[in-house]
Amino acid sequence: MGRPGADTGVALGLLMATLARFAAWIARLDAVYAEQKDYLTDLDAAIGDADHGINMARGFAAAHQAIVAAPPADVGALLKAVAMTLIRTVGGASGPLYGTFFLRAAPVAGAVAEVDAAGVEALFAAGAAGIAERGKAVVGDKTMIDAWGPAVEALGASRAAGGAVADMLAAAAAAAAAGRDATLPLVARKGRASYLGERSRGHIDPGAASTALLLAAAHETLG
Ligand code: ADP
Ligand code: MG
Repeated sequence: MGRPGADTGVALGLLMATLARFAAWIARLDAVYAEQKDYLTDLDAAIGDADHGINMARGFAAAHQAIVAAPPADVGALLKAVAMTLIRTVGGASGPLYGTFFLRAAPVAGAVAEVDAAGVEALFAAGAAGIAERGKAVVGDKTMIDAWGPAVEALGASRAAGGAVADMLAAAAAAAAAGRDATLPLVARKGRASYLGERSRGHIDPGAASTALLLAAAHETLG
């Protein structure tokens, strides 16, 4: 009903993740990591060195600032700008790892103004594979991969079942949250927390928690 074309706009909105939506995702991540800084710091204080909150907040504030100062012309350029900013501004393990996600996702998205469901799955899968490769981590090692792995699987399953971008990202966000929670009883086998051995049990992995937040924000903004 209403204006001609209005319905088409809504339908396309469900099918395509536009450049504006990717920019909104990064803006949302800036806000989310600022809000959740203490939560992530507390998780990292238990089994790491209490810098994950500040790392994520600093990195995504800088990434948001970078794309506002010099608005990228396409989705690939935006993802690349975020990657370079994260790598430059975030210390610790998580900077290079999240940087790798955006760096690998950028050429998969390409110089386009919008990404369809297949493209969304492909760019998240490539980014997550890049993190796993760089960190040499697999699901069960109690790292951010415990959230990324199930999230990428859920994206694929949802798309195969005919899901639109919004459905896919809802499934991915739920799977990432479940993956985060599943790190609680595990012993860390990678990263700083692995130095604790058995004492890393009984704590949520901070990187898995920040990945669950990243995918929840993707669900809120991209689809
Ligand atoms: P650091 O451990 O250097 O202090 P952060 O605290 O910012 O860096 O990030 C810690 C998170 O990084 C961990 O909770 C874990 O999820 C992730 N991480 C660490 N090492 C690896 C790895 N080899 N592969 C995948 N993720 C890792
Ligand atoms: Mg740390």
